[in-house]
Amino acid sequence: MTNMNILNYVFIVIILILIALLVLIYKKLGYMCKVLDEVLQGNLNQRIRFQNHTKSLNILCTKINRVIERLQKVYEKNKISEDSRKKMISNISHDLRTPLTSMLGYLELTFNDDTLSKDEKERYIKIVYSKGNYLYNLMEEFFQVSKLDSNDVKLEIRRLNVSEIVRQNIILFFNEFKKFNIEPKINLPEGDVYALGDEKALNRILSNLINNALKYGSQGTLVGINVTCDENNVFIDVWDNGAGIPEEEINYIFDRLYTVEKSRKLNLKSSGLGLTIVKKLVEAQKGTISVNSIPFEKTVFTFKLPKS
Ligand code: ADP
Repeated sequence: MTNMNILNYVFIVIILILIALLVLIYKKLGYMCKVLDEVLQGNLNQRIRFQNHTKSLNILCTKINRVIERLQKVYEKNKISEDSRKKMISNISHDLRTPLTSMLGYLELTFNDDTLSKDEKERYIKIVYSKGNYLYNLMEEFFQVSKLDSNDVKLEIRRLNVSEIVRQNIILFFNEFKKFNIEPKINLPEGDVYALGDEKALNRILSNLINNALKYGSQGTLVGINVTCDENNVFIDVWDNGAGIPEEEINYIFDRLYTVEKSRKLNLKSSGLGLTIVKKLVEAQKGTISVNSIPFEKTVFTFKLPKS
């Protein structure tokens, strides 16, 4: 064989290898297109599986998979917020319509039924008044949440005497404690404790939590507040020993309009906004809040604020 022939032979082999490589890459690209088509059709669980040895193709596949993964996460997040938006609108309509229908019913009766005595009419008007108040408070809560959502609440952060504010809040609930036959237990450090926060916001947080402890913990016997602190934070526990929160629902109770299934049945005039407001107010003061519940032993909401 002449040198020329050997060269031709090598050249043909190289060309054949290159063609084989091109066919392989072409096939791989076809497979990738197929996967991407499926992703575009909505199957976001699809991923490109690859075992080829071309480094740049491997990198490309990894990056495409990452983009699909990110798309899937955004899609799931959007779906959750879309679902909660739909649920919220239906809950709001229900929350507004039920008391309004009943108010109109009582008013119609009061105006049209001549057989009603003065006392009965007065009783009906009182019911309308109380339902009107409930609606007003509900609207206030919706308003407060949307203001907090759009960062439209100006907090006046200053040095607060947490011990004193806790004592005042307990005194404000004195009648409720008596009514529910529940004993308040306060546990404060020896000297007064100070935190950085907004007084109105702290009062709102405490009154929402104490109110919930009384409302949902009424099957228990105790409601308590513990204040402790470390170097940087003041920790405030509001606890009760009532029926508690089911494990499968505890992760959702800070969600807007979330009411635990069994308490919805109790018809406690709940809006599901109380804890959403509490969490937003705690966070607006650079704090955090968590919950832990052992039914009939201890259900405790713990929030912390920066120490002053
Ligand atoms: P609302 O009281 O208006 O329903 P919240 O946001 O204050 O709304 O509370 C959400 C849910 O968390 C309530 O429906 C209730 O079931 C549950 N919850 C809150 N506090 C307690 C508590 N101390 N014990 C048991 N369940 C509670």
